[in-house]
Amino acid sequence: MVDKISDRVLVIGEGGSANSTLIAGKNCSILVDTSLFPEKAIKISKFSMDVFGLPISYVINTHYHPDHTFGNSAFEGLDIISSSRTREIMEKMDYNYIKAVWGEEEARKNHITLPNVVFDEKKQMSLCGRKISLIHLGGHTPDSIVIFLEDESILVAGDLVFNGYHAEITPDSALEKWLYALDYIRNLQPFFVVPGHGRFGGLEIVGKMKEYILKIQMFIHGRIDDSELIKDPNVSKRMFPELFASSIENILKYSKIKTQGV
Ligand SMILES: [Zn+2]
Repeated sequence: MVDKISDRVLVIGEGGSANSTLIAGKNCSILVDTSLFPEKAIKISKFSMDVFGLPISYVINTHYHPDHTFGNSAFEGLDIISSSRTREIMEKMDYNYIKAVWGEEEARKNHITLPNVVFDEKKQMSLCGRKISLIHLGGHTPDSIVIFLEDESILVAGDLVFNGYHAEITPDSALEKWLYALDYIRNLQPFFVVPGHGRFGGLEIVGKMKEYILKIQMFIHGRIDDSELIKDPNVSKRMFPELFASSIENILKYSKIKTQGV
């Protein structure tokens, strides 16, 4: 499914899969997140030519998770931009990691491509004639970044925001940082926000995400029980309940490790 935010910015994503955002510039276009599959990334590349008449010349990864980066190999030779943490984490992905994600056959045939242009905290770039701000915030993962297109007031939030779907909370997620990141996004006052999964919206999807994380925090700290957690429609109405179960498991394990001081 392709969702049009403006004449120059399109969001490609389907059925809760990770969104890819295609940004048209003057004589080339920029792709934020490359999906799990190189074949899908190649299709997006063709789509950019069909719809804008522009080749994709730059790729940005919002964070290391495979559903946002494993399509990178379709753009071998281009500048692939990410936070330095993303590259560090991806450098450690061995064959077994890739096999667990893609399956053995695909893992043998394909390879992953690492970002080759990295930054630490903030970077302003002019790509394809467009001014783009990249900001490293962490939270969902230690390397999570957001991309702000000030001229169109569009913010690409990666997996810091999930709309209509449960958030993926992984063992390396940090809820306090995540809340800080959501406040940071709100303070930028973007008109449109592109989540990592689900449809784009306005700042209300950021507010809902904050309430969701706060509820989970209350549950973890024992201030509400699971029945109260489920009663909240902002929790129970989200899709992918199985993801919710594994997220809660991750966060409980993580907080236990923290209290044990390991
Ligand atoms: Zn993610």
